[in-house]
Amino acid sequence: MANETGETWRRDDDNLEETLYGLTGQTESNKDIWFYDNRLKWYLIAIGKDPNSTESLNNFPDMIRLPKSWTRLLKEMVDDTKKDNHERYCSIATDNNNGRILLPLEYVKGAPTCVSGDVISDHKNTLKGLGADKIIGSIHTHPNKSGYRSLLKRFDRLYTGDFSAADLYISAKKDGELVAGVIDLSKEITFVFRTRGTKQEENFNYLPKGYRDQVSFEDYWYRSKNIEVDYEKRTATYLNNHNCSRDEFIDLRWDVNYEIAKKHNLAIYRGKLDTNLVRFYPPSWISSKETEWKKRLK
Ligand SMILES: [Zn+2]
Repeated sequence: MANETGETWRRDDDNLEETLYGLTGQTESNKDIWFYDNRLKWYLIAIGKDPNSTESLNNFPDMIRLPKSWTRLLKEMVDDTKKDNHERYCSIATDNNNGRILLPLEYVKGAPTCVSGDVISDHKNTLKGLGADKIIGSIHTHPNKSGYRSLLKRFDRLYTGDFSAADLYISAKKDGELVAGVIDLSKEITFVFRTRGTKQEENFNYLPKGYRDQVSFEDYWYRSKNIEVDYEKRTATYLNNHNCSRDEFIDLRWDVNYEIAKKHNLAIYRGKLDTNLVRFYPPSWISSKETEWKKRLK
């Protein structure tokens, strides 16, 4: 099914999404989806009260559905990001007294590749002023032009709708974020949840001692895919002259997400804005089907 340009996957991907996610949008009675009002919201409130009440990995549903209020906010964040290619960031917080989730009325602006700790802590203080008891996580955008020079030339962008390895470090680390979301400019959304199986204690024993910080973590996982990142020069190059196409590169980044999730027992969901997000790790029957189709298209 390949056409002359070899661009089949991008195009067929859209049809797949329509077929898979469109169909699954009708599963109102399906117990394998967490809608916001009947399940997701209460789960977030519960983990806000007690971070040890996270579900075990195999109790996460096949799909989750974000409420309109969240998708509206995400859309606004994306539209703003498009204007200047800087990341936008907002926290997700719980207000235990009133049993509600607080998404801020205003999100904050970061740099093209990250949001600084100072900006984040100011933002968290604002939320506390609005009645937040516990910050359980965050959502941020990925601009097109973030990333590293040498890859920008070749691939337009380093980041796609997936998390960077550095993002997943924040979910995997001790007392890490319980939930996090990322959205890119094509409005692809990815969410990650810590689970009962995500270790609370220091859990980077597979990294050498003295190299268990965020930068070393990211380095380790990209190197596992033959990519070397130079943080000072802000370049990324392939080790051993390894070369790959843009599609392969995107697959490779998703592989990193998959493998980190597997290593740290994180549940990952992905989908487009206004669709059900489908469990990517551990793979749901839908994503297994998708992988199968994708192989067939190659
Ligand atoms: Zn990120």
